[in-house]
Amino acid sequence: MKKKLRNGLLIFLFLLLIPQMVWAGDMQVHFLDVGQGLSILVQSEGENLLYDGGGRDASSYVVSYLQNQGVQQLDYMIASHYDADHISGLVGCLSSFPVENLIGPDYVHDSQLYTSFMGKAKQMGLKMQHPSVGDVYPVGSGTFTVLSPQNASDQDSNNSSVVIRLDNGEDSFLFTGDAEHDSEEQMVSAGLDLECTVLQVGHHGSASSTSWDLLQAAVPEYAVVSCGSGNSYGHPDADTMEKLQSMGIQVLRTDKQGTVTAYSGGNGITWDVSPCDDYTPGNPDDTGTMAGDAGVAAYTYTQGATENSQSTDADTQDLGDGNSDQETEAEQQVWISATGSKYHSRPDCGNMNPSKAVEMPVDQAVAQGYEACKKCW
Ligand SMILES: [Zn+2]
Ligand SMILES: [Zn+2]
Repeated sequence: MKKKLRNGLLIFLFLLLIPQMVWAGDMQVHFLDVGQGLSILVQSEGENLLYDGGGRDASSYVVSYLQNQGVQQLDYMIASHYDADHISGLVGCLSSFPVENLIGPDYVHDSQLYTSFMGKAKQMGLKMQHPSVGDVYPVGSGTFTVLSPQNASDQDSNNSSVVIRLDNGEDSFLFTGDAEHDSEEQMVSAGLDLECTVLQVGHHGSASSTSWDLLQAAVPEYAVVSCGSGNSYGHPDADTMEKLQSMGIQVLRTDKQGTVTAYSGGNGITWDVSPCDDYTPGNPDDTGTMAGDAGVAAYTYTQGATENSQSTDADTQDLGDGNSDQETEAEQQVWISATGSKYHSRPDCGNMNPSKAVEMPVDQAVAQGYEACKKCW
C-alpha cells in the first residue's frame, strides 16, 4: 500500500515537471580540422547538415570523416560563400553523398572552381537555393535561421557569406563563414537575434571580423576558431583573440586541437575535448594592433582584389598583422564626433560637426572603444 502511494506520488511529480523541461533531441556539431579553411557537420535525429567543406587538401578527409559518422545523405549542404577554402571540399561531397538542399549566396564568382562546383551540382540535379534573411529551416531536433547576407556581391565575397544561427532547445550556434565587419554591422543594426552559446569566429579569426558590436550582441560562451596551423595569413589575429579573452569567452581551435565536437541536448553544451583557451595569435610576432583597427585597413585594401580558384582564401590578405600599422598609427591624432562610435582622420568626415569634434591620440580613442571610420581611415 505504502509503496503504491509512493509510486503514485513520483508519477505525479514527474507529470508536474514535464511542462518545465525543455524537450530537445540530441545534436552534434563537428568543427572539422580542414587546415586553413572551414567545414562544420551538424547531425541530429538522422539528419545531416554540412556548412562548408574546407579547401582542396582537406577534401578526402571531409568525405571520409562524414562516412565515419554514418552520413548517408546530406539534408543540407550550405556553401557560406564561394572562396576555395570553403567550397573545394564540397565538390567531393557532392560526388559522394546525395544532397537534398543546396544553399549558397546569390552571386557569381569569377573562378574555375565556382564553375566546376556549379557544374557538379547541376549534374547531380541540384539547383542552388539563395535564402533570404529570416528564412527558417528545420534540421533534426532543431532549426536554423538565415541572418545574412542582405545583398550578395562578387565584389565582396566574404561579406556575402550565408550566416546562420542554429538552435537546439536553449543551445545555439552562430556560423558566420568569412563574414566581416560590414556584414556584422548589418546584422547588429537590423536588430537580429545574434545571441549564441557557440560562435564560429568569422574569417578564421582575422581582424577584419569579430567586431565588438558583434561580440556584444552574440555574447557567446564558447568560440571556435577554424584555421591552419602556421597558416601564412597569421590567423587568428591578436586583436580578435584579445577581445575573446577580455570577454572571458572559452576558446577551441582546430589548429591546436584538431577536429572538435560539441554535444547539445538542448540545455547546455559539452565538448569531446576541453576548450584550450589558447589566445595566442597565429603569427607569434603579432603583438596586437588595437590601435588602428587593422581589419578595416586590410578590408579596404583588398576590396577590389580578385582571386583565382587556386588560392586558399586569397580574398583577404591579413595585412593588418604587419608592424607598419603600429608604427605609423601609434602616435597619430584622430577626431571623435560628439555622438559617433568611430574615430576619423579629419574633423569634418561625413556629417560630423567639426566644431564639436574632439582630437585625441588614436590609442586613447581605441581604448575608449571607438573604431576606425571606413570612409576616411
Ligand atoms: Zn573567404
Ligand atoms: Zn575563408
